Amino acid sequence: MLALAFDVGGTSVRGAVVGAADVVLAESRVATRPGPAVLDDIGRMGEELLAGLSPTARAGVAGVGIAFPGLVDTDAGISRRAVNLGLVDTLVAAPLAERLGLPVTVAHDTAAAAAAIWADAGSPASALVAVLGTGVAAVTYVEGRAVVGVSGQAGELGHLVVDPAGPPCVCGLRGCVETRAGARAMLETYASRGGDTGVTGVADLVARTRHDPLAAQVWSEAITALADGFLAVGALLAPGEIILGGGVAEAGGDLLDPLRDRMRERAGVTAVPPVRLSSLGGRAGLIGAARLALAATGPESRGKRA
Ligand SMILES: [Zn+2]
Repeated sequence: MLALAFDVGGTSVRGAVVGAADVVLAESRVATRPGPAVLDDIGRMGEELLAGLSPTARAGVAGVGIAFPGLVDTDAGISRRAVNLGLVDTLVAAPLAERLGLPVTVAHDTAAAAAAIWADAGSPASALVAVLGTGVAAVTYVEGRAVVGVSGQAGELGHLVVDPAGPPCVCGLRGCVETRAGARAMLETYASRGGDTGVTGVADLVARTRHDPLAAQVWSEAITALADGFLAVGALLAPGEIILGGGVAEAGGDLLDPLRDRMRERAGVTAVPPVRLSSLGGRAGLIGAARLALAATGPESRGKRA
């Protein structure tokens, strides 16, 4: 069984054909276009990915999973509100199901990515799973269950204020974690302080930290914001470990080592749990979306579908 998976991010839309054991068989990516255009891009990428498969493989594609930002109504397949995409109450699942001829499941991007990271890490009973990308979000697992909150909106790590005098955030506050540690925010900060205009992404920024003091400063500020955010969550919930996924986590040791140090320096009385990297990196959203698609079309749920 194969799944067609999409991860709609603030910077790019990733699409993939995912097979057994989370193996990615084909992958594509386009720059994110806001508004209804993003749905057209998903549809076109889906058609192209399907066209690239052999007839046998094509017949094995069971469904489509889409990890979508903002407020998502999974049951209705609707994007209730996606600020960065400029979408309100927009049908996502139905038009794409018709276009691609496959059942479509839409899920909140952080929830999908975090679930994949958590499962990949062995489903630890107590953990904070952080998804670091254009946005910064986290899901806390307590006694083996994700804490979703009464409204389902728990986990907005990116909007914890860590520097009240810091840069304005899209949410209306100042100095949220995301304004320092979000991928786009880091690149904008670097550019606004006169950084090299040739920097293409966070990986490039991190590579430059060895010889570019400005890049090192921006990266260090991101590390500090993450450390303070994790310590705030840690003070309340004392998770057994912190697991990092998402595109920014692909920085690897350049993220992990200074983050561990910074947390120890700033911990006060808060216990600092072990921090480790997910092996899924920037593919966590895709893998999570694929798993949801397969779960939604599995034997248990198939009878419930029209
Ligand atoms: Zn904010």
